[in-house]
Amino acid sequence: MSDLQPMGFWRETGLLVRAVYRAMRVTFINLLRKPVTVHYPERPRTYPDRFRGLLALTYHPETGEENCIGCRLCEFICPPAVIKVEMLKAEGRNYAKNFTLELYACEFCELCVQVCPTDAIIMMKSFDLATADRRELLLDKDRLHAIGEQHDASWATGNRLRDMQAPPKKAPVAKAEPAPTADGATGGPS
Ligand code: SF4
Ligand code: SF4
Repeated sequence: MSDLQPMGFWRETGLLVRAVYRAMRVTFINLLRKPVTVHYPERPRTYPDRFRGLLALTYHPETGEENCIGCRLCEFICPPAVIKVEMLKAEGRNYAKNFTLELYACEFCELCVQVCPTDAIIMMKSFDLATADRRELLLDKDRLHAIGEQHDASWATGNRLRDMQAPPKKAPVAKAEPAPTADGATGGPS
């Protein structure tokens, strides 16, 4: 003989109503909330300061010269090896003769930004470069500079990141007081 007792009609109806209420509660709550969908690109979103978006090359704000000195540190650090740089040796400083970046294979890890000694490669607060043609994401030096002019830059640059990670400066050591002598006077030159 089974131990299961048949439930009464009202008890069964009560359980059913409770289950439906619990299942629909979240739906009803969200029905009354304002929509969170942003109609991009008509309404651009505000990105956080450390947003890791498109990569770009920069010019010096005062001289207008290219900041890149062709040192190839970004090329060496890049995990998927998507950066290729050719250095151009010149009087006084070096330049990048060629600079290519295969954005379609970039991991957006920011390592290239972190190692750049001249803040030449940075990230933008935008990812607005969608395309169906991968070849358009093979960026050369001119396009990387154009992206830098077109969008807002993220906060991080190589120098800022290194400053942030530098250990705090040591407090100055206080000069030691001269030890008192037997007659109570302090020692030292007379
Ligand atoms: S963000 Fe990372 S993966 Fe992309 S280019 Fe820089 S180092 Fe390479
Ligand atoms: S972008 Fe920076 S790290 Fe890369 S080659 Fe130019 S100066 Fe060197």
